[in-house]
Amino acid sequence: MILDLRAFEEFPAKATIQASQGALSPFADSVVRVDSAEIELAIQKSGDEFFCQGQVTAQVVLECARCLARFESKLTGSLGFIACSADNIAEHLGRDTEEYVPFSGNDLSVDLVGPVQQALMFALPMKPLCADDCRGLCPSCGANLNEKTCDCENETMDPRWDGLKGLNPK
Ligand SMILES: [Zn+2]
Ligand SMILES: [Zn+2]
Repeated sequence: MILDLRAFEEFPAKATIQASQGALSPFADSVVRVDSAEIELAIQKSGDEFFCQGQVTAQVVLECARCLARFESKLTGSLGFIACSADNIAEHLGRDTEEYVPFSGNDLSVDLVGPVQQALMFALPMKPLCADDCRGLCPSCGANLNEKTCDCENETMDPRWDGLKGLNPK
C-alpha cells in the first residue's frame, strides 16, 4: 500500500487509495481479518515535507469479546502524518510529537501500512461485541447463550429469581 507523491503535479492534492484483502494483516487480537480498506487523504506540500490528513474506512471481521463469534464490522479512523526524508525526521526528533513517516528509499513514496494500522487500532473498540445485548457463553458448559439456553445454574444468575426457586409445583 504505497502512496507515490510524484503522481501529483499540484498541491494541495487529494488521493484515494484502495487496499484489497491481504494488504493489511490483523493488527489486534480481536481482529480476525481485514477484508478491504479505503484511504482518503488531503496532501499539502511544504518544502520537502508532505502533510497528509484524512481518514481510513475498513471492512473487518472481528471476534466478539463475549461469545467469540466472528462478525463483520466497519472501522473508521482518522489519519494524519507528515511524509519526509529520514534525514528530515532526524532533525525533528524530540521537538514535537507529530507523526513523521519516512519515504521508502530515495523516491517520494510512503508505505501507508503503519499509519493506517495505527488509525484503525484507535478506531477498534476495547471489547468488540457482535450485538449490544450479546448473552455470551455459559461459564459452566460453554454453550453460546445467543443460540440456546442450558440447564446450568450459574452463580451469576439474577438473584431476583431466588424467591421463585421453592415455588415449583411437585
Ligand atoms: Zn457475541
Ligand atoms: Zn451451561
